[in-house]
Amino acid sequence: AGHPMATIPPPQALLRPLAVPQRLLLGPGPSNVPPRILAAGGQQLLGHMHPEMLQVMDEIKAGIQYAFQTRNRLTLAVSGTGHCAMEAALLNLLERGDTVLVAINGIWGQRAADIAGRLGAEVRELLKPPGEYFTLRDIQEGLARHKPSVLFITHGESSTGVLQPLEGLGELCHRHGCLLLVDAVASLGGAPILMDQQGEKIDVLYSGSQKVLSAPPGSAPISFSERAREKMLRRKTKPPSFYLDMGCLANYWGCNDKPRMYHHTAPINSFFSLREGLAMLAEMGLESLWERHRANCTLLCQELRELGLELFVKEEVARLPTITTVRVPEGYVWQEITAFLMKEHGLEIAGGLGPSVGKVLRIGLMGYNSTKDNVDRVLGALRDALQSCRRSRL
Ligand code: PMP
Repeated sequence: AGHPMATIPPPQALLRPLAVPQRLLLGPGPSNVPPRILAAGGQQLLGHMHPEMLQVMDEIKAGIQYAFQTRNRLTLAVSGTGHCAMEAALLNLLERGDTVLVAINGIWGQRAADIAGRLGAEVRELLKPPGEYFTLRDIQEGLARHKPSVLFITHGESSTGVLQPLEGLGELCHRHGCLLLVDAVASLGGAPILMDQQGEKIDVLYSGSQKVLSAPPGSAPISFSERAREKMLRRKTKPPSFYLDMGCLANYWGCNDKPRMYHHTAPINSFFSLREGLAMLAEMGLESLWERHRANCTLLCQELRELGLELFVKEEVARLPTITTVRVPEGYVWQEITAFLMKEHGLEIAGGLGPSVGKVLRIGLMGYNSTKDNVDRVLGALRDALQSCRRSRL
């Protein structure tokens, strides 16, 4: 009595139990989550301002500083996926009318250009065909021509399987009065990246939780250099997002000297999981993680060639150790191969994305999933698919 009638009935689907099949995720991410990280994410909540939670956030910050090899104080995780970090980087760095140069050799540059355009920035594009990377000379010409205040470049181009060399890039950008912004969502932990060293001196670096860190998607590490911080302090206008305003987030994450204040409710369980992913990375050590990805990727590439498949990225040094791209073999439809692997082997690999759609298959071996056993499993399954899915010539 007293309540109104709900006329829309409860959905039948929700009255049945949640169904999550077992799958081996060897696509470009997410990767499978190890039991220790799953357990961390399944813990009971804390309040988002409890001292124990703030301590978890401090541990995440230290973990990101290690993973990125940086001493930047403005280091934290945004509450969202890789795209959230990408938007956070661009919308805090750029103001309407700023010129940004975007290196585009796959989908991630395309997306960065899209985001920067929405912010009212003057977007200039530096283009390379999918499967290729940018040389210092390419970049230098672009910087001299367009005089941007920010350069966006992707370290691990997951749509094409290209690893972008970064040596010398930071110094080059700084000589041209430009900040270097690097997307390492697909590469962090799988290939060396030293934010403060090697003449890289990256100004803004971000990653994601669901690739090499093997945590669920939903939190994304990001860090800003002193140069980047100064540019943000010089802004004439507020960043156009409250949720991703780095000034507010810096305070919430204890990156400045003011008392920490509520900004938004942290995705507490995502942060527990990220903390464990970073802890596992710290325990293993960056060098051995890099070596593990290199070794398993090399083995995978050798065996793919022995199967008669052609690698999409020609130069070995330019191959991304976390995600390998092979050309769709002649006489096959790529969707039939991926569907067969899923149906018969419970195994995910992916087709192309953006400019590589229809051209490649993508196989990810990331973090917890980067093992020799998984190399054997994906090759066995592919051999089976190549026998079963061949199309007779029309
Ligand atoms: N950048 C790169 C290089 C990526 O591989 C991805 C994820 N595939 C993203 C950005 C976006 O991350 P998310 O899907 O977590 O938003």
